[in-house]
Amino acid sequence: MRVFFKMLRWILHVITYSIKHFMPLLPILRYPDPRLKKVAGRVDRFDDSIRRLASDMAETMYEAPGIGLAATQVDVHKRVIVIDVSETRDQLLVLVNPELVESDGQQVCEEGCLSVPGIYDKVERAEHVVVRYFDVEGQERTIEADGLLAVCLQHEMDHLDGRVFVEHLSQLKQVRIKAKLAKQARITA
Ligand code: ZN
Repeated sequence: MRVFFKMLRWILHVITYSIKHFMPLLPILRYPDPRLKKVAGRVDRFDDSIRRLASDMAETMYEAPGIGLAATQVDVHKRVIVIDVSETRDQLLVLVNPELVESDGQQVCEEGCLSVPGIYDKVERAEHVVVRYFDVEGQERTIEADGLLAVCLQHEMDHLDGRVFVEHLSQLKQVRIKAKLAKQARITA
């Protein structure tokens, strides 16, 4: 009997460890899921539910791992994004109701997306952006960015408007990517 309980405890330990370490907290929608096309609504109440959403999204992004995640990708259609482009993974940015107020220059960067696993391609974006947003406490803030952070901001803000990065690519590439992802889904199903 003692052996049985010991084994049971060990099995439970393995299960909880697996859940904690190998599964993202929130399920991430996969392209071409039609819910990725929804336009997110503005947040007007900065309450605990928004703070909880932001922290769950951050945990999901770090677990995945990824450098950015929009609420749209976890099927919550509110204008919230989380970003961390630092190598040390300790520079979390949470942006609520982000708005592009300035953009200039251009850069071409290879992008990927947690909603489009295994696909990377070059997208042209503005080199420099200024984004106005609110933090989770409802305080208005501004961020100025270039390089990778600028790309990431534009990529995540696109999600809030129902756009996935592959939609910046040619029609032919989009068809190929959809076919490839459908095949992947069949293999993992
Ligand atoms: Zn994305």
